[in-house]
Amino acid sequence: MKARLLASPIIFLTILFVTASCKDSSQKINKSRMSGSNDLTKIYIRLIDSATKVRNNAYAPYSKFLAGSAVLAESGVIYTGCNVENASYGLTNCAERTAIFKAISAGEKKIKAIAIVSDVPDFDAPCGACRQVIYEFGKDADVIMANLSGKYKIEKISGLLPYAFGPESL
Ligand SMILES: [Zn+2]
Repeated sequence: MKARLLASPIIFLTILFVTASCKDSSQKINKSRMSGSNDLTKIYIRLIDSATKVRNNAYAPYSKFLAGSAVLAESGVIYTGCNVENASYGLTNCAERTAIFKAISAGEKKIKAIAIVSDVPDFDAPCGACRQVIYEFGKDADVIMANLSGKYKIEKISGLLPYAFGPESL
């Protein structure tokens, strides 16, 4: 009886640990499997990792499309964000804008790079609204678009938003 009482918490903890490990390994990007257009710097790998982790917090009960983003601010600090949907669909906020708004709210003025991670075959490019917001705070920013299996592509925001309308246009 005593042994049975002892065994059940151990079994429970083992199941918990195995579940947690499986969850963790499936969410980590395998760096040796990463493939993309440019070489990744260490900081860009950290951005992809951070975006991958925060993707788990995405609130996407309607689309089921989970996205994570991480911004490298000019100060060197990384800010993360996920998509946050709403029953009134139009109020949904993308992961990129969540991350940028967090950075700006924390007192940052400029961003140097932004990573976006989602579970797609290739990679996801930011929507038009996010491109405009990225440009507002980093007209030379690198945009690192990656998927969960390590595929990525890096583009300058100026390439994703040609003839951009920005602060200098006013
Ligand atoms: Zn967007």
